[in-house]
Amino acid sequence: LVYSNLFLDHKDRQPNGSKRVLVTGAAGFIGFHLSLQLTKTSASIIVAMDNFNDYYDVQLKIDRAYELHKAGVKVYYADLCDLAFIEKLFAAYNFTHVIHLGAQAGVRYSLENPLAYVHSNIEGTQVILDTVKKYPNIHLTYASSSSVYGKNSPIPFHLNADTDHPGNMYAATKRANELMAYQHCTSTGIKSVGLRFFTVYGPWGRPDMAVYKFAQSIVEGKKVPMFKVSGDEELGRDFTYIDDIIAGILSTMDYNPDCCGVVFNLGFGHSVSVPELITILEEELGQNAELDLLPLPPTEILQTWADISVSRQHLGFKPVTALQDGVRKFIEWFTQYHQLRDKLQKSGQMSAAQQWYN
Ligand code: NAD
Repeated sequence: LVYSNLFLDHKDRQPNGSKRVLVTGAAGFIGFHLSLQLTKTSASIIVAMDNFNDYYDVQLKIDRAYELHKAGVKVYYADLCDLAFIEKLFAAYNFTHVIHLGAQAGVRYSLENPLAYVHSNIEGTQVILDTVKKYPNIHLTYASSSSVYGKNSPIPFHLNADTDHPGNMYAATKRANELMAYQHCTSTGIKSVGLRFFTVYGPWGRPDMAVYKFAQSIVEGKKVPMFKVSGDEELGRDFTYIDDIIAGILSTMDYNPDCCGVVFNLGFGHSVSVPELITILEEELGQNAELDLLPLPPTEILQTWADISVSRQHLGFKPVTALQDGVRKFIEWFTQYHQLRDKLQKSGQMSAAQQWYN
């Protein structure tokens, strides 16, 4: 991890190179995949930053960051709200693109700890906007969320459906980010692209999200916590495979919005019921799930489903990964990753990633 030697990296300053990209939240699930994919594209410098917060398994974040480091990505340990650091980072690398994914994620945790969302999502995003202001040629893409859609929005969620009734603090801060980006554009003329991601899953995924959490419960022989809904209603999510999301993010890097407040939906464009997901997990793991039926919390929306017609038209966004195929890839990674971690834990050894992080 490189923090203190920021100004020693003169050789990395290539003001005339091709794409020089900053990815915030790069030890996170989506930021990790994006940064890794960028190493395989035309980007000349990829700078990753993250505060490695402990919202979920920090070791997983360290392992992702170590993979990035091995692939030649510069990884910085820092907080988005550290304005002085962010300013130095921008001055040192002369970025052409900023992809702002760093955030306090998670719907349910936002009930317990709303301030964490104000800190990372509101203040952190304002720091990015304030800094971008000084570099008007930077292309900015930032993460919003399907959570911005209100409970009563008709499905599939069209971009102009209701976003004025956030069901939780996470959704409120993500919608606020869109409004902040809009306001920033009207006052500075700097346009950006917001992406409303829909339930992303895949290898190196998030342990707090359904696919990972359910798989873990099944493997450990624990009950799978599933929200019960009444009558004919069905709990459904637009599960979107990580590679499709990454293709969508990459497509924004060459997209120049023609007005302020541009946002797109990035989802598979189909809603799958949660019981159906559990059946797929059972098939791919070769194990049965025992369910723990819980009441649906008021923060949860019944169904998400992206209308991706505008993303298709403007970004050429075309998700291709069917849920069963994506879950299979996730399970392959999940099994290998946990076997390796168990082995290291039993031997009492520190992994190469831990040594690097320490
Ligand atoms: P993630 O939690 O895995 O990644 C976010 C990263 O940001 C984490 O590694 C975290 O440590 C870092 N971070 C948080 N606060 C920070 C701060 N103050 N300073 C520096 N780093 C900080 O989440 P993800 O799934 O990779 O999501 C990436 C983005 O996409 C987030 O903005 C999230 O809200 C959004 N999103 C994700 C999904 C999804 O299904 N995964 C859906 C909708 C929106």
